[in-house]
Amino acid sequence: MNEAILALNAGSSSLKFGVYDIGCPGEPRPAARGSVEMGLPAHIKAEAEKGKPLVDRALPNGSLEDVIEAVLTWIETESGERRVTACGHRIVHGGTLFFDPIVLTPEQIDAIDALSPLSPLHQPRSINPIRAIARMRPRLRQIGCFDTAFHRTIRPPASRFALPRAYERKGIRRYGFHGLSYESIASRLQAEGKSDRRTIVAHLGNGASLCAMRNGASVDTTMGFSTLDGLVMGTRCGALDPGVLLYLLQHEGMAPHELQHLLYEKSGLLGISEMSADMRELEASADPKAREAFELFVFRATREIAALANTLGGLDCLVFTAGIGEHSGAVRKAICGRLDWLGVAIDDDANLRHAPTISTPASTVEIRVVPTDEESVIARHVLKATSEI
Ligand code: ADP
Repeated sequence: MNEAILALNAGSSSLKFGVYDIGCPGEPRPAARGSVEMGLPAHIKAEAEKGKPLVDRALPNGSLEDVIEAVLTWIETESGERRVTACGHRIVHGGTLFFDPIVLTPEQIDAIDALSPLSPLHQPRSINPIRAIARMRPRLRQIGCFDTAFHRTIRPPASRFALPRAYERKGIRRYGFHGLSYESIASRLQAEGKSDRRTIVAHLGNGASLCAMRNGASVDTTMGFSTLDGLVMGTRCGALDPGVLLYLLQHEGMAPHELQHLLYEKSGLLGISEMSADMRELEASADPKAREAFELFVFRATREIAALANTLGGLDCLVFTAGIGEHSGAVRKAICGRLDWLGVAIDDDANLRHAPTISTPASTVEIRVVPTDEESVIARHVLKATSEI
């Protein structure tokens, strides 16, 4: 029987997972990947690494525990002769306490949970599957991998807010997120011997951010203290004048929880288009508001790319990744079109084909499309953390 690692990546409405065989020396070997759309009924879908469908069916019960049990049972009984010996989790916030992946003890789970005020919507999504597995399979080793960790290399002034220093000592600083995704891209560039260039990675999904990298390390990023900062996102506002918040609190009588709902769930592409947070729907729509949402998304992305090029002192490589970055030729073309002053020149044919390199030979910036793979990063961390025990 194969020993396997389960890598879990819990999102707002879905639970992505990867199954990796271990036992042979070297890297964990990818065996299957899938996702569960939460709801009643929930729906599990998985395919083998080579794209062969493995399962596609409704799960009558939609509770998190039922879903995790169904995933574990599917891995251990239907997907092959496997026994899950460790489970890795993407954890959004490590604060100033957690950087390296850790084996999760009850005390550490509580300490991670205590960081929830720093990320009120996302941290509980990370914690809930951990607690569920701790209840259901208390002997299964669980490893936490932190999205903030990749950005530990960001230093002042990039990490700093212009607030009195006492607030920085309280942990009010720029952390940065999507770190496992950036680590995935950084290791890919490193494998190609291309990590020494001034690189900006654009992780454009429902959540969206940019990371400026030098020698494979983060030197600046667009998300800050929270996952709200920076780019326009599906339902999040991105960078906003803090005066707007004061105005809404003081003069519109908004309660903090209403403000949170507005900024995280009603803004961004959805707020501007008044139609959808989904880039595919906006691109397909003839409604001028959908076009305006697209244009704002692109404008703000290019404004932030220019800001990060400033941090890097120039730009050699621009990488697109995540749902929009990997699949939307229209967004890539519009972004690159606004950056021609920076030496960015896109090859339209290569872009339409979603080719790995989409710059023209004359472009001074290499433009890449690289699929992100957070689950494989988690699996590698799990293997390392468990072999060190
Ligand atoms: P999450 O942050 O939830 O992991 P994803 O990385 O899966 O998000 O990205 C989701 C976004 O990607 C959605 O806005 C979706 O519309 C967009 N997307 C996926 N495929 C395409 C496509 N072919 N064209 C344009 N946008 C796409």
